[in-house]
Amino acid sequence: MKLSYLCPVCRGKLKQHENAFRCPKGHSFDISRKGYVNLLTTKGHNPDKAGDNKEMIRARSGFLDSGHYEPLARKVGTLIDDLTSDIKEPAVIDSGCGEGYYTVIYSQIAGRCELYGVDISKHGIDHAASRARSAAPKPDNVFFSVGSAFSLPFKDSTADIVISTFAPVSNDEYARVLKPGGRLIIVSPGARHLFGLKRVLYEKPYENEPNRYALSKFTLEDTLTLEYSVTLECSEQIMQLFTMTPYYYKTSKDAADRLRAVSRLETELGFEIRVYTKN
Ligand SMILES: [Zn+2]
Repeated sequence: MKLSYLCPVCRGKLKQHENAFRCPKGHSFDISRKGYVNLLTTKGHNPDKAGDNKEMIRARSGFLDSGHYEPLARKVGTLIDDLTSDIKEPAVIDSGCGEGYYTVIYSQIAGRCELYGVDISKHGIDHAASRARSAAPKPDNVFFSVGSAFSLPFKDSTADIVISTFAPVSNDEYARVLKPGGRLIIVSPGARHLFGLKRVLYEKPYENEPNRYALSKFTLEDTLTLEYSVTLECSEQIMQLFTMTPYYYKTSKDAADRLRAVSRLETELGFEIRVYTKN
């Protein structure tokens, strides 16, 4: 591991001793059997309930395993590989990595990089660690920890890239952990993302608003877009996709029932990939 974890209690440097990470003050964090470490303190969080729950993780993972978002994962993985081609032993933090679907693909494509997946959901990280273990080829350059995107368990100015894929964005925290000139990659939905799904749910579907981030410590360097259509051939997949969208929480029961009756859905997918440089 090129990056060291920081103790969430005293911010001291954690060192691995057998099956735990320990800081000089004696705070200790066990490494799970699957190989990840939980660095989320109970202060301000209930570690069992923070972030996505088991059902959400299962639905999202089930959908992502269908491969419909693989072109996105591959495009971003290639971008990470390109951006780090001149860097010796690059370190990439995947902030808000959830169930680790993207992290594992990024680590396979950008094989020179070490990938550090962090998420506030213990269920997500547990799933991510299993995913990495069962991946083929099995990556040896990916490390997972439970932690907050707003208090990442890493030292100042140590990462080459921070990536946020449909995850929270923190101007101050991402600037803190990045090296001078380090890159921030933000992946977010484009205007037409999931328009076919919205056509079923809403009478008058609207395009997504442009994404705006208050990133005073970064300069936008490049914006890439990726758009394509997919056809979902069964109700289970359609409902899995629905569960992982924000619409799941703000759609009426009637509209959700309408979707449940659909057995085939064609929809646009649209993504924006923004590359920022730390000022
Ligand atoms: Zn400590």
